[in-house]
Amino acid sequence: MAMLEVKDLHVYYGVIQALKGISFEVNQGEVIALIGANGAGKTTTMKIMAGLVQADGGSVKISGIDALKESRMIKRIIGYMPDFFGVYDNLKVMEYMEFYASIYGITGSKAEKLCRKLMELVDLTDKSEFLVDELSRGMKQRLCLARCLVHDPKLLILDEPASGLDPRARHGIQKIIKRLKEEKKTIIISSHILQELSELCTSVGVIDHGKMVVRGTVD
Ligand code: ATP
Repeated sequence: MAMLEVKDLHVYYGVIQALKGISFEVNQGEVIALIGANGAGKTTTMKIMAGLVQADGGSVKISGIDALKESRMIKRIIGYMPDFFGVYDNLKVMEYMEFYASIYGITGSKAEKLCRKLMELVDLTDKSEFLVDELSRGMKQRLCLARCLVHDPKLLILDEPASGLDPRARHGIQKIIKRLKEEKKTIIISSHILQELSELCTSVGVIDHGKMVVRGTVD
């Protein structure tokens, strides 16, 4: 059984048809790159999986569960990194992580241990007492990636996690994703640029004008 099954997704924003029947499957352990130009429909597709946008037609199954109906259950299985994320005034990096852990019921020394481990993974250990607002863009993006891992999700949905970063910072994000791939996470990652994901991903889906136009291996 595929880990993710997307069938004939349709979405309208008013009169704009953002998705025109997207279908694809992702198997466990696969790292799929969703490639497409601005406005192609990548973010919309990902937001539907995360339960943040309602589909006007079609179905999404994650681990066999109907993601469009059981969005609460799905939130335990997935880790979603949005393309834009809010910044929390006057919150330190460690507090920010512990806040997200607490949402999933992880508190006290267990939360502290977990958050330290995740901060090590994203190379932010020496920033734990910094305010989130004091981090660079690349560091904030790594922090955001760490926060979607607090509940040890099986499926990661990462919406342009390296957007707006310089080559070195992009490499930093890629290194972390590589580690997550080694941990056998199933990962969906969007980008405009296939090249930088080609070594990382096991397969590719190209989205154009709300349709999946190509699906297969990088070759
Ligand atoms: P990008 O690479 O720029 O992030 P994308 O592939 O993620 O683009 P989407 O954000 O999914 O594309 O947008 C798909 C289409 O839906 C676009 O035509 C966009 O203008 C439209 N759209 C997206 N969000 C909304 C919204 N909230 N209201 C109206 N239209 C929207």
